[in-house]
Amino acid sequence: MEEPTSENEERGITIIAKPRKTPKTLNPQTQPQKLDPTPQFEKFKSSSSSEAAAAQSTTTFGSLGLSEWAAETCKELGMRQPTPVQTHCIPKILSGRDVLGLAQTGSGKTAAFALPILNRLAEDPYGVFALVVTPTRELAFQLAEQFKALGSCLNLRCSVVVGGMDMLTQTRSLVSRPHVVITTPGRIKVLLENNPDLPPVFSRTKFLVLDEADRVLDVGFQDELRTIFNCLPKTRQTLLFSATMTSNLQTLLEHSSNKAYFYEAYEGLKTVDTLKQQYIFIDKDAKELYLAHILSQMEDKEIRSAMIFVSTCRTCQRLSFMLEELEVENAALHSLNSQSLRLSALSKFKSGKVPILLATDVASRGLDIPTVDLVINYDIPRYPRDYVHRVGRTARAGRGGLAVSIITETDVNLIHEIEAEVGKQMELYNYREITDSLEVTKVSKAKRVAMMKMLDDGFEDKVKDRRKLKRKTLADKGMLKKRSKSRKAAEEKTDD
Ligand code: AMP
Repeated sequence: MEEPTSENEERGITIIAKPRKTPKTLNPQTQPQKLDPTPQFEKFKSSSSSEAAAAQSTTTFGSLGLSEWAAETCKELGMRQPTPVQTHCIPKILSGRDVLGLAQTGSGKTAAFALPILNRLAEDPYGVFALVVTPTRELAFQLAEQFKALGSCLNLRCSVVVGGMDMLTQTRSLVSRPHVVITTPGRIKVLLENNPDLPPVFSRTKFLVLDEADRVLDVGFQDELRTIFNCLPKTRQTLLFSATMTSNLQTLLEHSSNKAYFYEAYEGLKTVDTLKQQYIFIDKDAKELYLAHILSQMEDKEIRSAMIFVSTCRTCQRLSFMLEELEVENAALHSLNSQSLRLSALSKFKSGKVPILLATDVASRGLDIPTVDLVINYDIPRYPRDYVHRVGRTARAGRGGLAVSIITETDVNLIHEIEAEVGKQMELYNYREITDSLEVTKVSKAKRVAMMKMLDDGFEDKVKDRRKLKRKTLADKGMLKKRSKSRKAAEEKTDD
């Protein structure tokens, strides 16, 4: 069951998700047909046989059916050979089929859909040719960068339409009919519903992409998807890409039309072999102290940059202030900051200006930053799926990486669940017990300064306002009274 997480904050409201009882179809208006025991889709499951490897090694972008300019662009971008997900999905997309691609994070899924879309766009350019829906704002900007790079010789017009930015400018940009629109579900819904000029903009759209499809298909985005589907022509191609399989995706696949192609390189919730997974087990009051300790070892361990995941915006900002006080340069990325602050935090981190990014789960999916050598789970995520996405920010594209989880007594069950799902046991991180009272005092002082700064900067007020707004939204939806006490407490732990 999906609980509200910081990612839901993308939408500006909190959704209490419940397990989906009725299956979803690609078009929510149509009722699911009866389940046929024989699958209606063509499925390819990747294997690691030597034959498959040999076939893969002789494949080129040109041999997949892409035009010369596209193959040339890949070369210029250092993509010498297609990855397996690209090899299998690109020809199917070019031939007009719906595709569900399931492959590990960092395996080249973006180019697997962007290249064939751009290839088709170049044959018949118009706007809006493709609509790409992704769960977080930062991912939308990253996707736009990749589309622009891959379509650099096309004069591509690409618009990013996400929450936290000026709606009038976004409306104007959509009315000018860019070739590709990349959006988060909440913002596009609001725009489509409030401006009658906008739905016609998508009346000839050829491609709908759901990136991080498992997340976009979560029950929290149901209304948004319905609005989007209603504006798109039925003849479009639908492309779903995800790193994790969920029952929603499985059901959708079983109900898809017989032209759908399913590429699966997914063997459950897996982490890559090049990732070292370690833990430290400490008292909860010592978390900040040991966090500072791990970070102080970055240089010795030749760690270029680190992402620290926490479960609330409040912890994120507080730790950022604390590290600042300890003279550890960092940036904070969470949904209580404005979009311009969020983007500036990410760009400072990506460009190497700061070596540490503190983030809520808004940054746990898809972000591709090659210098990230370390992921720290300061708070343990409630679901193994989130753990896999978080640690997937390092050890990408065959590189090595380290994930350290800071475990306290109350996290033990969560860790067991994660280890069971991932099929690996974490090792103990090599650390010394901190007995130096100077070090302890320094961190304690920084903690106090950070708390005061939270009050002085009005951050605590922002947290309170957010909670009030959420309660109101839930009350408006008649959902408030249904929440148990424990549910409420759990939400407050992760949702601010
Ligand atoms: P993605 O899984 O789409 O986030 O891609 C992960 C990283 O792999 C990105 O930095 C891509 O630029 C890179 N990439 C994608 N396709 C290829 C390829 N065929 N060869 C080398 N790198 C690639």
